[in-house]
Amino acid sequence: MRGDSEDDREDRAESAGRGIHWFRNDLRLHDNTALAALADRVEAWLPVFVLDPELLGAGGRETPRARFLLGCVDRLGDALARRGVPLQILEGEPAKVLPELVRASGARVVSWNVGATPLARRRDERVRRVLEDAGIEVVTCRDHTVFGPGEIRTGKGDPYSVYTPYRNAWWSRWQEAPRWSAARSRIPKATIPPGRGRRARFASLGAEDEAAAQLPTPGEDAARRRLRAFLSGPARRYHLDRDRPDIDGTSRLSPYLRFGAISARHCVSEGLRAIEADPALEAGISKWLDEIVWREFYAAVLENEPRVLGESYRREYDGVRWSRDESHFEAWCEGRTGYPFVDAGMRQLRETGWMHNRVRMIVASFLTKHLLIDWRRGERHFFEALVDGDPASNNGGWQWAASTGTDPQPYFRIFNPVSQGERWDPEGRYVRRWVPELRDLDARVLHAPWKADRPIPGYPAPIVEHKAARERALEAFAAARAGRQADRAEGQADRAER
Ligand SMILES: Cc1cc2nc3c(=O)[nH]c(=O)nc-3n(C[C@H](O)[C@H](O)[C@H](O)COP(=O)(O)OP(=O)(O)OC[C@H]3O[C@@H](n4cnc5c(N)ncnc54)[C@H](O)[C@@H]3O)c2cc1C
Repeated sequence: MRGDSEDDREDRAESAGRGIHWFRNDLRLHDNTALAALADRVEAWLPVFVLDPELLGAGGRETPRARFLLGCVDRLGDALARRGVPLQILEGEPAKVLPELVRASGARVVSWNVGATPLARRRDERVRRVLEDAGIEVVTCRDHTVFGPGEIRTGKGDPYSVYTPYRNAWWSRWQEAPRWSAARSRIPKATIPPGRGRRARFASLGAEDEAAAQLPTPGEDAARRRLRAFLSGPARRYHLDRDRPDIDGTSRLSPYLRFGAISARHCVSEGLRAIEADPALEAGISKWLDEIVWREFYAAVLENEPRVLGESYRREYDGVRWSRDESHFEAWCEGRTGYPFVDAGMRQLRETGWMHNRVRMIVASFLTKHLLIDWRRGERHFFEALVDGDPASNNGGWQWAASTGTDPQPYFRIFNPVSQGERWDPEGRYVRRWVPELRDLDARVLHAPWKADRPIPGYPAPIVEHKAARERALEAFAAARAGRQADRAEGQADRAER
């Protein structure tokens, strides 16, 4: 370019080898697909995290999910600092603040791993447009799951609507998937030199207070430690213990997977390696790996049918006439329904931001069937309260429990919260831990305290009676189906007349 000084020309040549990696739900340095792709393209880089208010949701920085996320960002910042790379933390709308950093740093390439939700996709598109208009190369990869939504399809090329055939197809493709390996853990060699007005600010984001202390230790190192501890311990009995909330029998890796502190690829590769080393682990670990595939399945459902965030997957249930009883919803949220297994779960959630899977199924069923409250309200409450709140798995879990989803629990099969408690918490250890009012109650009546021979101070009577609630739910669901069938028949008759 005429008129350019020699310095300008040198700067431009130098900046061709400069890139930025935008960390999002991939808060790790190992096995990070887009980061490795950036390392193949540029010599020097800057890592950035954007604290986007839209990302945090209504609860802001105070929800367990936000705290854990910010803790992971903190740990990522430490890991980068140990490598002499300063993590840039920006606040604001990514389409505005990222291009500013790109300009100031002289980067020519920006990489990120794509998001799966409609919100993330819209945001990514905005950022891509602004950067590409400015002549910046954008490198995006898929990383949040092993396979993307278009990769596992039926013979006809349609998305799967049922888990088991999806799982079979998933495993038949696994050999083609990239394996976790140290070679996939590349980062660019150098850091973009300081100066040029970039922000070298790294604030400590994760609050170290009492609420944070309840949360799992954030970060990539903790995730890898947890995976190792699980595979060398509880994994052996996972198939036997996974439904017992009174036993620490699951991996508790969900928050780490949610924010990409560990990759699903890594979990699957290490699980298979553990089975190879000790075939006696097969029963437990195979079952566990199938749970990781559930996560992939729900991610694919959401990407293929984003409408599920607001609508029933099975449209015949969109007509269910839900109850609007606010006192019931509040009692459920607070863990004061009078059903100990339900209350223990809801109190565990309130106090720790986590709940055991079996109990999630029971409390979700209780809300949608016994209380006949719209699954979308429960879904929203969980999303705000859970440390692993994930749009795809949460939606999948809620629609399953409400019988409106892909492989739903049939609507006429309604969990009995008493017999479920007796079966999965037989000595009542889980209930005693979270519902102190019942701590001294005899195990024979612990899950049905109204049968005790004395009143229990401070613990409520059941807010609904099981049998009557069950009948009401059956009627409401059957009526919705019948309404849908009638609509369909009417539609067919109309079409036949035309
Ligand atoms: C109503 C309801 C809401 C849920 N909401 C969420 C959510 O917001 N976020 C979330 O990560 N999971 C959700 N789940 C799924 C499941 O409860 C959690 O993933 C699991 O309890 C996490 O514990 P863990 O890591 O010890 O799981 P493990 O039993 O060790 O399983 C390993 C991993 O597999 C995945 N997984 C396990 N079970 C499921 C499942 N049923 N669906 C999808 N993925 C699964 C998780 O990533 C989990 O970390 C929900 C389930 C229900 C019934």
